Amino acid sequence: MPVYTQELPLLAEAQVVVLGSGSAGSTAAIAAARAGADTLLVERYGFLGGTSTMVLDTFYGFYTPGNEAARVVAGIPWEIVERLYAYDMVIERPSSYGAGQAVTYDPTTLKVVWEQTALEAGARLLLHTFCVDVLREGDRITGLVVASKRGLGLIRGQVFVDASGDADLVFRGGAPFEAAGSDGQPAQSLTTTFRLGGVDAERAQAVKRDEMVSRMKAANLSGEYRLPREEGSVHRMPMADVVATNMTRVAYVDGTDPLELTKAEVEGRRQALEYTRFLRQQIPGYEQAYLMNFSTQIGIRETRRIWGEYRLTRDDVLSARKFPDAVAQCGAPIEDHHAGNSTRWEYVPEGGTYDIPYRALLPQGVDNLLVAGRCLSADHDAHASVRSMGQCMAMGQAAGTAAALAARASRSPRQLAIDTLQEQLRSDGALFSGATVAAAR
Ligand SMILES: Cc1cc2nc3c(=O)[nH]c(=O)nc-3n(C[C@H](O)[C@H](O)[C@H](O)COP(=O)(O)OP(=O)(O)OC[C@H]3O[C@@H](n4cnc5c(N)ncnc54)[C@H](O)[C@@H]3O)c2cc1C
Repeated sequence: MPVYTQELPLLAEAQVVVLGSGSAGSTAAIAAARAGADTLLVERYGFLGGTSTMVLDTFYGFYTPGNEAARVVAGIPWEIVERLYAYDMVIERPSSYGAGQAVTYDPTTLKVVWEQTALEAGARLLLHTFCVDVLREGDRITGLVVASKRGLGLIRGQVFVDASGDADLVFRGGAPFEAAGSDGQPAQSLTTTFRLGGVDAERAQAVKRDEMVSRMKAANLSGEYRLPREEGSVHRMPMADVVATNMTRVAYVDGTDPLELTKAEVEGRRQALEYTRFLRQQIPGYEQAYLMNFSTQIGIRETRRIWGEYRLTRDDVLSARKFPDAVAQCGAPIEDHHAGNSTRWEYVPEGGTYDIPYRALLPQGVDNLLVAGRCLSADHDAHASVRSMGQCMAMGQAAGTAAALAARASRSPRQLAIDTLQEQLRSDGALFSGATVAAAR
């Protein structure tokens, strides 16, 4: 049990405290500040964005898959894309897999876009600050215990948003969750991404996906290479001679265990170098390619999923279910990066969408806490569909808006009238219950 007390030095205080600045948390902080709440965004690293800036470069989830693609996410998430367009640092391209149109951006520019948008909204930022515990009185969280170079400190708040990806607040607050892998389905694998410069784009792009896969298979069969995943992808970036990859695979890792993560980081980088060697030696256009970077940390797809007032299920996804308390929606397929050399795909029928209900963002057993992003309440398969960044941002907008409305009215998030929340979200451009906007920009 925690040994911390309220005697810890008070580092900060806010009406709405958002933990974690990934695509969900940054959007939540922007939404909460715009909805009039004094908002603090707390992040362990020295920049915003989480996976969106540390690991990745492509937003999925904005569009439904297929030829009749529709855009199903708007509001603050699309504003972020528009801001990237203003820097000329985004391209839209067909998906590498069939997950719907891809929105590929420069992650370095996105770091600036996140912080500028959050600051312009009026949110305060607190970087280099790691939350290690919570203080709880009855069914309310009263503060976050955080660690920094100054030692331990306390952050007080009225309403909290857990956007840590790993449900750290739910976990430390003693609320129920499901650990990935505990339901008989192994947790999704981890991936170290890397980018290559010096690529002859024209020749590289002439190598189609099927050919890349068959060359990977042949490379493994030759005994000259060890490539654990044979259908990983390479895609172009907004910068001319640069490509980004999603190729490595480290399986059976608990992404909340530092010992396992240490081994996974080392293995991910080892694999990244092996894939670089393969690309340079076996794929036309990569002869002069050089390694530009590894992801800041290994990419973690799935750890803790909370038990909320509702649990989104595989059946909800595959029946395109709609909910009366919808606050966001998703048309992305189930995309399960299990162990082994392939990935499992299952699609929402007829290019449709299912709703994300507000209740999936409300943890059981704690009154002044919401979650947003990949730690929402969902089973393994539903999570494998709903975790795209388009949806994490949409959940962030919903959770941040709800947190602000609740804080300003001195109510619990679960006491909010759902139609008031939905009305606010709609007027701020959010899409749900099957609403779409034209796909072409
Ligand atoms: C390898 C990989 C490839 C993927 N490919 C795609 C893709 O191409 N397109 C797509 O749309 N989605 C993709 N996804 C899924 C998607 O990226 C994630 O589901 C999404 O980014 C999760 O966002 P989040 O905000 O919930 O969490 P995160 O991005 O994980 O953000 C959590 C934030 O909280 C901070 N944090 C955590 N704990 C603490 C703490 N205790 N104290 C302080 N700060 C804390 C972290 O530093 C981080 O900034 C991929 C995921 C992975 C791992």
